[in-house]
Amino acid sequence: MMSAAPVLPDPSRRRVLGALGAAGLAGTVPFVRAGTRRPLGVALVGLGYYSRDLLAPALQMTKHCRLAGIVTGTPAKVEEWQRRHAIPDRNVYDYAGFDRIADNPDIDVVYIVLPNHLHKPFTLRAAAAGKHVWCEKPMALDATEARAMIDACRHHRVQLAIGYRMQHEPNTQAVMALATSRPFGPLQRIRAEAGFHGFDGASGDNWRLDPARGGGAMYDMGVYALNAARYTAGTEPIAVTATSSIQRPEIFRGVDETMRFRLEFPDGVTADCATSFGENMNRLRAECAEGWYELSPFQAYEGVRGEASDGRRFDVAIGATPAQQARQMDADALAILEHRPPRVPGEEGWRDMRVLDAIFASARDGGARVEIG
Ligand code: NAD
Repeated sequence: MMSAAPVLPDPSRRRVLGALGAAGLAGTVPFVRAGTRRPLGVALVGLGYYSRDLLAPALQMTKHCRLAGIVTGTPAKVEEWQRRHAIPDRNVYDYAGFDRIADNPDIDVVYIVLPNHLHKPFTLRAAAAGKHVWCEKPMALDATEARAMIDACRHHRVQLAIGYRMQHEPNTQAVMALATSRPFGPLQRIRAEAGFHGFDGASGDNWRLDPARGGGAMYDMGVYALNAARYTAGTEPIAVTATSSIQRPEIFRGVDETMRFRLEFPDGVTADCATSFGENMNRLRAECAEGWYELSPFQAYEGVRGEASDGRRFDVAIGATPAQQARQMDADALAILEHRPPRVPGEEGWRDMRVLDAIFASARDGGARVEIG
């Protein structure tokens, strides 16, 4: 591995970008780190389940990026993370001091792995610090937040990629390609369902059950069904109807336990989708005029597989967990290094958020049809 200092260190970079901004050029060209061949330094923000069990181990497998820093509100976690991942003191931040990351040349990318209501504020802060941003799904709480995140990253000339890992998974990519090649004739109907039974005996402070922090099944698992419906259709929905329900009111207060929603796409194509914290479901199916194809499970850390009516199988294996996360981060790192847009840019997250806004509006209105502008 060749190692070289970045051609343009961050403080100089911010001066140059400031000048570009003054010249009206900000947001027109992705930042160029010509000559940089070292793996990008990633700082994980939020050291909960997904960072600890999936992303940090995945960053030990990646070629184009590495775990260089941590940002946490829990001092008790720091020593263990530093020891396990050889993170120097200078690359450890708390939330209040996070903005100083702007002056740290070890950190190229900030990966936001916080509860959903914190995705927007930390994206804005990371972008202002001149760092590329990777942000977990759901991108934000609504489309307005998502747009502000995209605008901030564009303004500060940093990349924004959303952690939709399924779009980096090869069987999913094979199904996505069928939206263009259409070997089974015109698409007619989609079914996309992602959920699990959980939270029995839930107690204490769980942000997934808190409306203010982006809790509920729709934000958590529902975005997989929604995203899959959109990538299977290959077009954008024009209207939605949705109903939300709660089977265990003692656990779910103010957040959806189950959401069922129907998306209407152009040409009469519909997608019947569901998500739940009370029911196991994991299937994506497309019915076409001359056949069908499906993935089940379509949302899993490994073992995504499926088949089609012509006998073809979708069963490419990429290795054990966390291979998907490593693939995603390497692809997103390469996009930065090669000055290309990421596979799943902020705009893709925003497209989901605007549909999600309509889903919540319909559910609030008792299942009324809501058109998506
Ligand atoms: P988690 O609860 O395990 O971790 C959240 C972290 O945020 C904790 O370390 C907690 O201390 C910290 N935090 C900071 N402010 C907080 C606050 N106000 N309330 C609660 N916690 C706070 O959650 P997680 O499962 O790691 O999920 C984090 C993000 O990652 C979410 O956006 C989630 O949707 C996403 N996620 C994605 C995947 C995937 O497959 N792509 C899987 C799991 C989670």
